[in-house]
Amino acid sequence: MLVKPSLIVEDITTIDLSALKAAGVKGFIFDLDNTIMAPRLGALEARIESWLAILQAEGFKCIVLSNNKKAEYCQLAEKVLNIPVLSHAAKPRRAKFRQALQMIGLQADEVAMVGDRPLTDIWVGQRMGSYTILVDPLIKHSEKVYIKVLRRMERMFVQGG
Ligand SMILES: [Mg+2]
Repeated sequence: MLVKPSLIVEDITTIDLSALKAAGVKGFIFDLDNTIMAPRLGALEARIESWLAILQAEGFKCIVLSNNKKAEYCQLAEKVLNIPVLSHAAKPRRAKFRQALQMIGLQADEVAMVGDRPLTDIWVGQRMGSYTILVDPLIKHSEKVYIKVLRRMERMFVQGG
C-alpha cells in the first residue's frame, strides 16, 4: 500500500484553482481538524475564511468530512465555516465519503479530497478515485511529541512526500 497524493502543498490557500478546474475538479471534500481549522478552537483564520469564500464564488461545491465525533463541536464548525459538516466519517472507510458526494451532487472523480493525514484523508480519496491534496497541518508546533512521531511515520507511506 502506498499513498500517492495528486498534490502536496504546505498552505491550503496556495492551491491553484484554475489547474484543478482544468483537471475536472468541481468540488472539495475537506478534512476539518488541522486542515481548515485548528483543532478544538472552533475558530477560523481570516485568510482561510476568505479562501473558502473565493472557492464558493468560483462555483466549487464544498463539504467537510470529519472523523471527529463531538456533535457540538461539529455543529459549531458548520456555523463558523458555513459549509455542511459530516462527522463520524471513519475515514479511510468510504461510506461517509459516498454520502458527502451525494450531498454535493458530484462523482468521486469530480472532487478533490483535502486533508493533513495521509492514512485517513488521502487514502480514502485515493481509494475512491478522487483528486487528493495533502496539506501541512495548521498546528504543527504545539503538537505533542508522539503525534509528531506518528506524522513522520505516516509520511513514509507517501510517495514523493
Ligand atoms: Mg485532520
